[in-house]
Amino acid sequence: MGLKYKFEIDREVCFIHWLQNMAGKWSWHFQKNLHSFFYLNASNLDDKEKSHLESFRNFLKEKESLKGKDGAGNWLWWRYANKSLAEKKDIQVFRDLKEIFAKRFEELWQEEKPKLEYWKKRLDEYDFESMQNTLESAAHFIGGTLPESEITIKLIFSSTIAPNGGTHPNHQNLILLGVSNIVPEDSERVIGTLGHEILHLVDHRTAGILKILKKALLKELFTAYIFKLKRFNIAKGYKWNYLLTESVLRSLASFRFNTLIGEKLFHTPEQLAEDADFNIGNGLHKKSPQFLIRIIGANLLEEIKNYIATKKQIDSKFGKKVAEEWLKIADAIWKEINP
Ligand SMILES: [Zn+2]
Repeated sequence: MGLKYKFEIDREVCFIHWLQNMAGKWSWHFQKNLHSFFYLNASNLDDKEKSHLESFRNFLKEKESLKGKDGAGNWLWWRYANKSLAEKKDIQVFRDLKEIFAKRFEELWQEEKPKLEYWKKRLDEYDFESMQNTLESAAHFIGGTLPESEITIKLIFSSTIAPNGGTHPNHQNLILLGVSNIVPEDSERVIGTLGHEILHLVDHRTAGILKILKKALLKELFTAYIFKLKRFNIAKGYKWNYLLTESVLRSLASFRFNTLIGEKLFHTPEQLAEDADFNIGNGLHKKSPQFLIRIIGANLLEEIKNYIATKKQIDSKFGKKVAEEWLKIADAIWKEINP
């Protein structure tokens, strides 16, 4: 039996997602590209709007500092899951934001809504059977199984560059998928992004990847590895737990075609060549953590295929390989900075 997908368009979720991106960097996992895209497209912000965005940024920062179950990420995800606000202060903050941005968002909504409807139709009609087997193998490889209950995918605004997606450990059947400004020809890239997010859901349930990595390197050694990588300052504020897990998941699926699932999706040889192009230009030390994740992901793919061919699951040997790939990058960066 295949996975059950339910695609939804939810105005409120689109508003909150758009607004938190408009607010500017409030956390390490904040998506800078999305912020720039939304912000640059929002012309003539007045002082009142600007000051409210700043307050909202501080509000989210404050939430973030609470960590755990009340943290900002979690707070936002409860909004994405349509849970109503409980705290008086939160209700007031939100009422103000809605009022201030009502007109601007309504105009934007009129532009974006038909695009979301287009994508909902495409996705409703898509034959996900073609991805099912590969997704199952990938889930098995990371030590889990695909969700049995229906997953809800809320379609949200995207940039023109790439689809964006998100999941949260406390919401096991919910995915946000940013698609509105993706050109129709890139529909298979949207599917790849969705595959990536589904595997996040699998990993949230088992936390398998990180567990294996930590076990593979023992706790002290793991800390020493991370320390060495940090010293080379390649993480730039990113959480190492994220970088390690993400490099494995990015090898399995992403919006690119040089991934386990991507290779199975429809693409041209040119697209594959374009995605596999790692021309590093000004050198690794100038690259973003996201670019480094891409390199590691590509370097892990062959080994992942070997594991999957023999139905093996991620183990300590593979965990060591992930760490070694990151150390290789760290060494290369070190040599670039200290020639
Ligand atoms: Zn991811």
